[in-house]
Amino acid sequence: RKFIFVTGGVMSGLGKGITAASTGRLLSNAGFDVTAVKVDPYLNVDAGTMNPYQHGEVYVLKDGGEVDLDLGNYERFLGTDMTSDHNVTTGKTYQHVIQKERSGDYLGKTVQIIPHITDDIKRRIREAAEGTDVCIVEVGGTVGDIEGMPYLEALRQFAHEEDDGDILFTHVTLVPYSKNGEQKTKPTQHSVKELRSTGLQPDILVGRSSDKLDSETKEKIALFCDVPTDAVFSNPDVEDIYHVPLMVEEEGLDEYVMERLNLADEALPADER
Ligand code: ADP
Repeated sequence: RKFIFVTGGVMSGLGKGITAASTGRLLSNAGFDVTAVKVDPYLNVDAGTMNPYQHGEVYVLKDGGEVDLDLGNYERFLGTDMTSDHNVTTGKTYQHVIQKERSGDYLGKTVQIIPHITDDIKRRIREAAEGTDVCIVEVGGTVGDIEGMPYLEALRQFAHEEDDGDILFTHVTLVPYSKNGEQKTKPTQHSVKELRSTGLQPDILVGRSSDKLDSETKEKIALFCDVPTDAVFSNPDVEDIYHVPLMVEEEGLDEYVMERLNLADEALPADER
């Protein structure tokens, strides 16, 4: 089974979820059974108690689970139904671990974020991915947030435990323009530095910008973030978010992902997708 971990840098509301869902859609078009997990580092057990004015719609799943609106994007983009197990929150994880501690399941051990919370995060991701070819895991929030740290550590361990070639890290960042119309890569460089400080090196970088990244910008990002230039993709502003999969397909994101995950041989030929 393959896993694609999607993190975000610079700021939230960037389009990380849409980028993740678009990647999933392209892989599903290529004939793979794709699912997604949204990880939300907040302490709420689920989104049911959250103010929609602050957090956007509460999305209700078939099993009655009240979850983050990103799950709605995944269901729509992937054309599959999900369950509340596909939304991992800090609230759910801590509640479960603390209940286990109260019932004596840890046999007197000191219960800690590492390994007990990180183990529970990894277990939830593996269970949600069961029976599929590819699981996309989106980490909510921004790299560097204190709340997100246990998740990044869990992903680091997860990648260590799986085979090389089964895991891909995609990092989505903002590429702003300076007053003289230049695309600026510094925020991306800083956020990759922050990501690296957690022990994670991105394999793919996606730059959210008002326009496509020009080749000079891509080269600069590649050099400073230590990825090949063809691992840097644009995700410019579009009128309709359902155009995002087509746009990233044009830049070859799906081909690159399949190549890196050794899926290219099993994929449907391009004219049958
Ligand atoms: P994040 O996961 O980074 O918080 P989302 O994927 O939820 O961000 O997207 C935040 C907002 O930006 C959503 O309203 C989404 O529709 C919009 N958005 C995402 N990608 C694009 C794009 N390429 N062009 C225009 N709007 C976008």
